Amino acid sequence: MTRDYYIYNSLSRKKELFESVNPGMVGIYVCGPTVYSDPHLGHARPGITYDVLVRLFKYLGYKVRYVRNITDVGHLENDSDDGEDKIGKKAKLLKLEPMEIAHTYTEIFHDAMRKLNTLSPSIEPQASGHIIEQINLVQKILDKGYAYESNGSVYFDVEAYDKKYHYGILSGRNIEDMLSNTRILDGQSDKRSALDFALWKKASPEHIMKWPSPWSEGFPGWHLECSVMSEKYLGSLFDIHGGGMDLKFPHHECELAQNTVSRGQSGVKYWMHNNMITINGKKMGKSLGNFITIRELFTGNHKMLDQAYTPMTVRFFILQAHYRSTLDFSNTALQAAEKGYKRMMQAVKDVKNLEVSAKAPEIEGLKKIPEKIMIALCDDLNTPIALSHLFDVVKIVNQVKDHSMEINENDKKILEELLTVIVVDILGLIDESDSSGSEKVVSGLMDMIIKIRKEAKLKKDFATSDMIRNRLKEIGIQLKDIKDGVEWTSD
Ligand code: ZN
Repeated sequence: MTRDYYIYNSLSRKKELFESVNPGMVGIYVCGPTVYSDPHLGHARPGITYDVLVRLFKYLGYKVRYVRNITDVGHLENDSDDGEDKIGKKAKLLKLEPMEIAHTYTEIFHDAMRKLNTLSPSIEPQASGHIIEQINLVQKILDKGYAYESNGSVYFDVEAYDKKYHYGILSGRNIEDMLSNTRILDGQSDKRSALDFALWKKASPEHIMKWPSPWSEGFPGWHLECSVMSEKYLGSLFDIHGGGMDLKFPHHECELAQNTVSRGQSGVKYWMHNNMITINGKKMGKSLGNFITIRELFTGNHKMLDQAYTPMTVRFFILQAHYRSTLDFSNTALQAAEKGYKRMMQAVKDVKNLEVSAKAPEIEGLKKIPEKIMIALCDDLNTPIALSHLFDVVKIVNQVKDHSMEINENDKKILEELLTVIVVDILGLIDESDSSGSEKVVSGLMDMIIKIRKEAKLKKDFATSDMIRNRLKEIGIQLKDIKDGVEWTSD
């Protein structure tokens, strides 16, 4: 099935008919996390938004190459060109190798993304794995005359760039305003202008992550990696560059300028930005004490949380808002999402068991619902409208279930298709009780095994009881004799 998809382009600030650069193939690059702390609510939103986009394109018949990077070097505190490397700082604090920090938080991020049922990207490149390519790009920008070296560091010359191209087109800024709003350099900086940004930074002696380069032993500027890795894996022009609204400036603006100099074009056909999550109306921030990590959401272990919320509740909550709107987190909103999710999942289960009646008339309006949902999803990923149509479907399922309406075979098929293809395949909402179902099976089996072992012991058949204990150990299950029975734990 192919159909027109309309995408809002952050650069043109318009909705545009999506046309892929390569027919039948969509290239998507999304800025991933800087892996130095637990992923938080602000990571869940792009994770889920671009996941639904990927799923939708696949459903529409495209092949998708979805690249999401891992920033493990070069991202300095406060997103600035000064200060410590976020990962290096944490490594010093915990007396660990920076790569241990990066690895630990990459794993936690993956675990959170898996629980939220997001598909793994096609490629997940790391900045530290692309240092040579980044050095080459710095050289290219220097050669073109849009960068300068200063005390071993290399900076992008924003004013020189702005004379030929326009710096600020993505974020809607202009260089005069920016200059009047920035502090005048105090003479200590290596930069010629406060607007210039680092392409390469000379490392101080205590800096841990550094590489040799023609200019100094140092490390790449934060914006460089995404220019390099998007071109390497998606080509010099690709379809969609996504990320959070907070990345629009300076990160994406700088990326766009680097691309324009090195590739002769911005390199991105559509820029797509998801809006932020606020908490009880306030911006989320560590200093405000309202910073909620994904792990805390799942455990409920945070002073602002009334309860734990399951991954699918969080996913449903995020899909209830359009990705370009701000989304306000509150316990009330999450509890409402939990109810909505459960109602929808009940319908997904119930639809299979609906009794059909051959003489039931066609349900009015039902045939048009699939079309309405696809129109909503293809209208710049309007998931809240799609969900509202799906609740009409849920209502029909419930009416048939309580016999206030009859349904024929054909209409039942439409309902089933909607609730599996749209809810499960595209929106990625899955039944969480399934996993607790399998947990139930495991605990039932364990009770049975423990009982068999107990009986063997009573009959002094120690060969059998030891064999059970050892075999379980081999698969990572430990048995522990306690006062009134046996406890088991698994790795
Ligand atoms: Zn990026």
